[in-house]
Amino acid sequence: MRPSTSVLVATAIISVTACPDHSNYQSHPHLAPRQTITSNPGRNATDWSYEASYNWGRIKPAYELCQTGTQQSPIAIGNNIGLSNYHHPNFTGYGGGNVTGNFFNWGYGPAFTLKHSGDDWTDLPSMQFDDETVYLKGWHIHAPADHSVGGRHSKAELHMVHVTAEGHERAVIGIRIDPGSSDSEFFAQLPQPLIGFNDTTQDVGVTVDMRAALAEVNDLSEFWTYKGSLTSPPCREGIRWFVARSVLFVGVEQMRDVLRVCTYSARAEQEVWRHEINSA
Ligand SMILES: [Zn+2]
Repeated sequence: MRPSTSVLVATAIISVTACPDHSNYQSHPHLAPRQTITSNPGRNATDWSYEASYNWGRIKPAYELCQTGTQQSPIAIGNNIGLSNYHHPNFTGYGGGNVTGNFFNWGYGPAFTLKHSGDDWTDLPSMQFDDETVYLKGWHIHAPADHSVGGRHSKAELHMVHVTAEGHERAVIGIRIDPGSSDSEFFAQLPQPLIGFNDTTQDVGVTVDMRAALAEVNDLSEFWTYKGSLTSPPCREGIRWFVARSVLFVGVEQMRDVLRVCTYSARAEQEVWRHEINSA
């Protein structure tokens, strides 16, 4: 997952225009008129790259955890690791699932940040696990998948980032994405064409049904869970990961549409140490 970009969004230069090539979306029942703002979401000049993700710790002291951390993500999930019997996520707080926010590209793939009021995160869809409640802040896509299962990486991975009531990143749902035999309803609702990795515009006021993503992986009825970290610098720990056993299958053209706007964004897998995979 990536660090917060909400501050950058707040400083965006707003130039609202309707996209002439996609005016048909104005009549789409799930989508607002396509309005764009020019911004710089997630485009801070980075001093790290995915191509050298095995050595982020040497870049500067602030990235030390990338090298010394005991619960770093992602990890390889073995075929012989059973599913979790603990920490079951509960999504009743997601309500109907429709959320409004800004759709953009975080520089590596499609991304979405939910609209919320000020520093109050508690009006966002909530997920419960154990005795904690966390709130959906946004999502983004990596390609190929960060996590491997049985030695295999899916074509892409969706990260649904959840924060505490204070706005601290606390839990991420990882959903593997692969091409299948029919289209995904979740992906079908996204504004087309998807925003490219070099495109710094955003679609604002887009409504997305996030329950559709969960429904397409059986509401995480089967999952692996572990104690992990952000998967990009500064690699901060304290993140509970939920990786869905079910793969979210998309149509072949949908898969190509996603891959077309992605650049390589999978961190080298980390050795399992104090991750307590599936443990109580
Ligand atoms: Zn991520």
